[in-house]
Amino acid sequence: MIKVTIWNEYIHERELEEIKNVYPEGIHQCIAEFLGKEEDVQVRIATLAMPEHGLTEEVLADTDVLIWWSHARQDEVCDEVVKRVRDHVHMGMGLIALHSAHYSKPMKELLGTSMTLRWHHGDRERVWCAAPAHPIAAGVPAQFEIPQEECYGEYFDIPKPDDVVFIGWFASGEVFRSGVTFTRGLGKIFYFQPGHEEYPVYYQKEIQQIIRNAVHWAKPQIRRVTRLDCPEITRPLESAKSN
Ligand code: ZN
Repeated sequence: MIKVTIWNEYIHERELEEIKNVYPEGIHQCIAEFLGKEEDVQVRIATLAMPEHGLTEEVLADTDVLIWWSHARQDEVCDEVVKRVRDHVHMGMGLIALHSAHYSKPMKELLGTSMTLRWHHGDRERVWCAAPAHPIAAGVPAQFEIPQEECYGEYFDIPKPDDVVFIGWFASGEVFRSGVTFTRGLGKIFYFQPGHEEYPVYYQKEIQQIIRNAVHWAKPQIRRVTRLDCPEITRPLESAKSN
């Protein structure tokens, strides 16, 4: 069983009528609904308004993959929770950051660059698969369209990714590294650009397939229960052999 925690700041869908019309129960519930249909996935929800943003030590220790959507209140995520998320990624927890979560505190903390990009509202995107053999691309067409999406354009200030799985092309002429993977500590990270809150992107079957694949890909292969540290080697292996 893969234990997934879906974290959503859950602000736009409560405060803006036009966003509520797209995601009446919030983006997290839309994602929870299609992921919850997977036999081997168990879903939990956490939001900004919960105590400790719903991401206590116990919750994170019991999370294989954390999905993160945020935009309006990135700065309100408390630093202690950010460090906790970072440490759990280092210990093996997977992290999937969606859309404007490129600019979230955990992503900045883990990746270490400015995470800036260029953007404008209202565009048509064509998502191209740039790594068809990658597990996150399994069953995903070579290219597909998102009829309405916010345009994100290069230069996207990320560290060199392990893999560029998807490239987004926008009708306005921009291109963007839309699906990129990283490794930090023992944890796998996938950043995926589609998912602006004004458009029904997370209802689209290709998007759901990619997120499902990413959950399976990001689940820990090794999971530590204690923070990574620098223990002294008190008994070197070779000297132990000779005694
Ligand atoms: Zn957006």
